[in-house]
Amino acid sequence: MKRTALITGSTSGIGLAIAQTLAAKGYNIAFNGLEANGEAIAKQTAETYGIDYLFSPCNVLDPEQITAFVNQTLERFGAIDVLVNNAGIQHVSPVQDFPLEKWNQIIGINLTAPFLFTKAVWPSMKKQTFGRIINIASAHGLVASEYKSAYVASKHGIIGFTKTTALEGAPYNITVNAVCPGYVHTPIVENQIADQMQAHQLSREEVIQKVMLAKQAIKSFIPIELIANSVAFLAADETTTITGIALPVEGGWTAQ
Ligand code: NAD
Repeated sequence: MKRTALITGSTSGIGLAIAQTLAAKGYNIAFNGLEANGEAIAKQTAETYGIDYLFSPCNVLDPEQITAFVNQTLERFGAIDVLVNNAGIQHVSPVQDFPLEKWNQIIGINLTAPFLFTKAVWPSMKKQTFGRIINIASAHGLVASEYKSAYVASKHGIIGFTKTTALEGAPYNITVNAVCPGYVHTPIVENQIADQMQAHQLSREEVIQKVMLAKQAIKSFIPIELIANSVAFLAADETTTITGIALPVEGGWTAQ
C-alpha cells in the first residue's frame, strides 16, 4: 500500500532528510517550508526517488494556510497516513531581554502549529483507523539550557501534547510519538554557532566543543540520517504499539 506523509519544514535540514528517507521507502510526500527554492528541492527529491509529491509554502503560523495545505494533500493523495511536525525555530536570549514577539513566534511554530496540524488530520486518520504522528521535539524537550526559555518551553510542551494525543489516538490505531535530537548540524544550528560565538566571545570550534557538544556524552553531532531513520521506524505500519514516547537521539545528553 502506498502511504502519504506530510512533513512540515521539509525543504531544509532534518525535515528534508526525513522526506528523503520516507521517499526512498516509497511514500508520497507533501513538502513544506519557507525556503525560496522549496518547490525545486521538493521536485528534485521526488524525481530522485520516483515518488509523487506536492509542495506548499504554507506558513505554519497561519491556521487558514494549515487547513488549506492539509485539504490540498487529502484531495491530491486521498489520505495523510503520516504527519511529521518538524518545522521549528530557535532564539537565544536571557529571559529578561527575551522579545515577546520572538516568544510568540517560537510557541506558534514549535507548539501551536503541531496542534493545528494534528487537529486537521485527525478526522481522516480516525476514519481510516490508521495514523502515525511524529513530533520533532529536542533534548530540550527533556532538559533545559539557559537563554532558550521559549524553545525549551515549546519543546517540553510538545512532549506533553504528544502524550495526550497518544492516549486519544489509541482506540483508532493512531500512534503519536516524539523524537528528541541532540545537536544535528543543520542551518538552525549554524545560526546558533554564530550567535554563541558573539555572546561568549569564542571561536567556532570552541563553541561547538565547549558550548554545544559539552552536554552530550558522545562528543559529535548526531548524524541526520539517524533522526530520519528513527522517524521512519515510528512511521512504519508495523510499529503498532509504541505510542506516547519521547525518544532521545541525543548522544547520552539526558543520561546525566
Ligand atoms: P532548519 O532551520 O534547517 O529547518 C527548519 C525548517 O522549518 C525549514 O524548512 C523552514 O523553512 C521551516 N520553517 C520555519 N518556520 C516556518 C514557518 N513559519 N512556516 C513553515 N515552515 C517553517 O532546522 P532543523 O535543524 O532541520 O530543525 C528541524 C526541527 O528539528 C526543528 O523543530 C528543531 O527544533 C528540531 N531540532 C533540531 C536540532 C538540531 O540540532 N538541528 C536539535 C533538536 C531539535
